[in-house]
Amino acid sequence: MTYLFNLVVFVLGSSIVSFLTVIAHDFPKIQLNRRSQCNNCQNILSWYELIPIFSFILTGGNCKKCNFDIPIMYPITETIGGLYLIVVLIKDKDIYFAIPLMIMLVTLSFMDYFYGYIYPVCYALILPTFIYALLHGYPLYFITGILTYSALFLMNHFYQSIGLGDVELLGLLAILFGYEDILKIILISCLLCIIHYFGNKKRSFRFIPYITAATGIVYLIS
Ligand SMILES: [Zn+2]
Repeated sequence: MTYLFNLVVFVLGSSIVSFLTVIAHDFPKIQLNRRSQCNNCQNILSWYELIPIFSFILTGGNCKKCNFDIPIMYPITETIGGLYLIVVLIKDKDIYFAIPLMIMLVTLSFMDYFYGYIYPVCYALILPTFIYALLHGYPLYFITGILTYSALFLMNHFYQSIGLGDVELLGLLAILFGYEDILKIILISCLLCIIHYFGNKKRSFRFIPYITAATGIVYLIS
């Protein structure tokens, strides 16, 4: 692959994340023609403030009107999105699996991050992968999915230690990944959460961003 091609793939990945951030923030009142605004002063952003990663560097991470600090999380997640797509291509992963998976998980992560809840209709974003898997005879692990969902549902019911959205998402991922990988995903999610807890004890924990990070790691490594 040429450097130029890698750059195009990187820009595509970071732009997808940037776009999904807005969708997750506005959902369900999505206006595709609305101009992006500063979250603090509602100032309409200029074109050069809309470019993923680059805008953050150019503006020093501040709104030019009200000087509001733009969270560092945005350029970091956009960079991860770009790198994810590059690794997907380098490792010759199936894009019909990789891209819907990315779109669903990133959307749900930002919803959970912004509001602490998710809209279940967003699970439908993974539908192309299911249809593709069924048409091409790829394995889907429905029994593992039901078992994972049931076990975590009981944990939610008796201990309230995990949210219902997390339970549903992990059940869905179990259908796609099978029991070995879903156990790795749960373990790595918990580890990332614990590591973050030691860095920032005040934060209330929204689990889906950790599930997303863990799924990305397991998917790209396995
Ligand atoms: Zn502002």
